[in-house]
Amino acid sequence: MLVDSHCHLNFPELVNNMQALRQSMQEERVGHALCISVTLPDFPQVLAIAEAYDNFYASVGVHPDYEDERAFTEDQLVELAAHPKVIAIGETGLDYFRLTGDLEWQRDRFRTHIRAAIRAQKPLVIHTRSAAEDTLRIMREEHAGRIGGVMHCFTESLEVALQAIDLGFYISFSGILTFKNAVELKEVAKALPLDRILVETDSPYLAPVPFRGKTNQPSYVRYVAEELAKLREISYQEVERATTENFFRLFSRARPCS
Ligand SMILES: [Zn+2]
Ligand SMILES: [Zn+2]
Repeated sequence: MLVDSHCHLNFPELVNNMQALRQSMQEERVGHALCISVTLPDFPQVLAIAEAYDNFYASVGVHPDYEDERAFTEDQLVELAAHPKVIAIGETGLDYFRLTGDLEWQRDRFRTHIRAAIRAQKPLVIHTRSAAEDTLRIMREEHAGRIGGVMHCFTESLEVALQAIDLGFYISFSGILTFKNAVELKEVAKALPLDRILVETDSPYLAPVPFRGKTNQPSYVRYVAEELAKLREISYQEVERATTENFFRLFSRARPCS
């Protein structure tokens, strides 16, 4: 069975389609999914989904692209993270691609998430885009390695991946791995240690080939796993086994259910 380590099931395209989406997961042998929150106002909805179904988990955090979110504190994150179905803090991180100008507020928020994760003892889900250097620097300065986590929807270089792994982090590949033009990324996926790799959809975005451009859903994570198996010349079962073991090793608060 696979795990979709990152999806946004509370988004309207998916939440209104829950039965079909769960049916498809069962057919494609996708056993679990981690539902990621992007703002605090949407967190109760994310948590409600994780509470409704044994095989869904939740994260709590504020995505770096949501500039207008009300200020929040480290205490607030720690408090919300206390719920047993919340297994991660995020998604957080830096995005210098979507937003420009003085982004000190983004870096401050990222630091707040890291401190909260260490206090709550729940790993981080990190988003980084056109900001790898600052992301790694802040991870080091804030001792993110004390709690670890995952660099989600990874699109950076091998060097960045290895530095993150050195800090105790895992690397998660999305449907981008199946895109023909993702030449460098495919090389990264071949080179990393298998015991540090996760797979995800980031649904409803980033549907893999052959669904590129359509609405993504957790069951499509199997196309990411298939691509990984092909690239590394190992069996699909081996990718299932390794990435699922990795997920439950990292998110040790998540109890697998059959
Ligand atoms: Zn993201
Ligand atoms: Zn996301």
